[in-house]
Amino acid sequence: MERIHTSDIAGSSGSVKVQGWLREKRDLGSIMFLILADRYGEVQITVKEDEVDGNLLELAEELTRESVISVVGAVKENEQAPGGNEIHPESLELLSEAKKPLPMDPRGKQDANLATRLDNRFMDLRKVDRRAIFEVRDLACRGARKCLEENGFMEVHTPKITVSGTEGGAEVFPIIYYEREAFLVQSAQLYKQLMQASGAERVYEITPQWRAEKSRTPRHLTESWSVDMEMSFIEDQEDVMEVQEMVVRDMVNMIKEKGRKQLEELDVGLEIPELPLKRLTYDEALEIAEEEGEDIQWGEDINIKAMRKIGDRLKEEGHDFYFIKRWPADERAFYYRPDPEDTKYSQTFDLNYRSWELSSGGQRIHNLELLKKRIEEQGMDPSDMRFYLDAFRYGMPPHGGFGMGLDRFIASVLGIENIKEAVLFPRTPDRLEP
Ligand code: ATP
Ligand code: MG
Repeated sequence: MERIHTSDIAGSSGSVKVQGWLREKRDLGSIMFLILADRYGEVQITVKEDEVDGNLLELAEELTRESVISVVGAVKENEQAPGGNEIHPESLELLSEAKKPLPMDPRGKQDANLATRLDNRFMDLRKVDRRAIFEVRDLACRGARKCLEENGFMEVHTPKITVSGTEGGAEVFPIIYYEREAFLVQSAQLYKQLMQASGAERVYEITPQWRAEKSRTPRHLTESWSVDMEMSFIEDQEDVMEVQEMVVRDMVNMIKEKGRKQLEELDVGLEIPELPLKRLTYDEALEIAEEEGEDIQWGEDINIKAMRKIGDRLKEEGHDFYFIKRWPADERAFYYRPDPEDTKYSQTFDLNYRSWELSSGGQRIHNLELLKKRIEEQGMDPSDMRFYLDAFRYGMPPHGGFGMGLDRFIASVLGIENIKEAVLFPRTPDRLEP
C-alpha cells in the first residue's frame, strides 16, 4: 500500500497507510491515543482495546515517544481529533525505536535552552515552527534565483579554497593543503570579479564563506552563506543597488506567496517592500546618529548602538529596508572604487534591515594601477594577489556587485534575534559540532 501524508487524510476514505514519528501517546486503559507526526502535520491514531488484536495492542503499549512507526488503518471522522479525523489501526509496525529519555522535548513544551537545542538539532527541527525557518530559507533562495535569472544572471560556482585572504585583515581560516598552507575564502569577491574579465557580464552565486570573526555577536557566524552577484558595464553603484532591491523584494515576495503556512507558524507578518528603497548617505546616517546622541567619528564604521537608533528612526518613517551609500573610501575594502568627484568617498552601499547590515556592495575599481595603489594603501602586498590582478591587465569592464548575508536576511525578516537560529548547524568560535 502506498504511504500518504497526514495532510492528505482529510478527503481520503477507506484504509490508508501513514508513517512518521510518535509525537505523543496517551493511554487511558481501554483506549489509547497515538499522535503520529510527519513532514506536513499530525494525525491521531485511536487504538481501542476491543477493536484490535492482542499483538497490536501490546506493541502500542510498548512504543516509546519519537519512535518511527508505520500504521495502516481506516480513516474515521472525529470532531474531537486534531484535524477532524482519526485512524483506527488495522496494523502497526515499529520501524525504528527511540531510546529513553529523549535529549530534549521536540514538542517544545519543556523549554530547552539554545545550546541544548543546537546540540540536538536533528530533534529540535522536528518542531514544526523550527523547520518552518528553513522552509522560508528555501523560498528566499528560490526568490533570489528567480529574480537574478530574470535579470540575465548566470549561476556560477567559484573555488572555496584559495591562496590568499580576500577581504584583507586577519580573519581567515588557514587549512593544510598537502604540503602547503591555503585558506578558506572569506567571500566570492575575487573570483566573481575575475568572471567580469571573462565576458560572462552577469554572474551570481549562493555560497558559503568563512571568517574567523573574533567577535561573538548575535549577527556573526564563522561559516555564513551569501547571495553574491557581480555585473559588468555599469554606470555607477546605482545600477547594482537597483538589482539589490529587486532581489530582496522578490525574496520577500516568494516567501509571502509560497510560505503562508510557515509565516503563520512563525507568527510573522511580512510586508513586501516598495521600490525604490530609501537611500541615505553615510553623512546623513551620521547626522541621525548624532541627533540620537551617538557620535560617530567621520570615517569610522557605524557601530551597532548607533545603527539601532538609525534603524528605529527609519522604521518610524515606514522603512524596514534602507540603503546607506557613499561610505568613506578608507573604511571600505581595497577593491571599491573611490568617487572620482571626491576620493574621500567611495561608490559603495550597505543594505540594512532595521539595525542589521544585510549586504555590502558598490562599484569596483577596474583600473589596474589604481587597484594596486589601493591594495598598498591598505597595507597589503599586490604581489600576493597576482592571480587576481592579472585579470585587470587585458581588458576589464567597469563593474560592481554585492554580497548579501543569507543567514542575516532570514534572521532579520523573521525577527529572529540570534543568527544561529537561521542556520541548520551553526559554526561559531565555540561550536564546531554537530
Ligand atoms: P559586519 O560589519 O556586520 O561584520 P562586514 O561588513 O564585515 O559585516 P561584508 O564583508 O560586507 O561583511 O560581507 C557582506 C555580507 O555578508 C554582510 O553584510 C553580512 O550580511 C554577511 N556577513 C559577513 N560576515 C558575516 C559573518 N561573520 N556572519 C554572518 N554574516 C556575515
Ligand atoms: Mg559590509
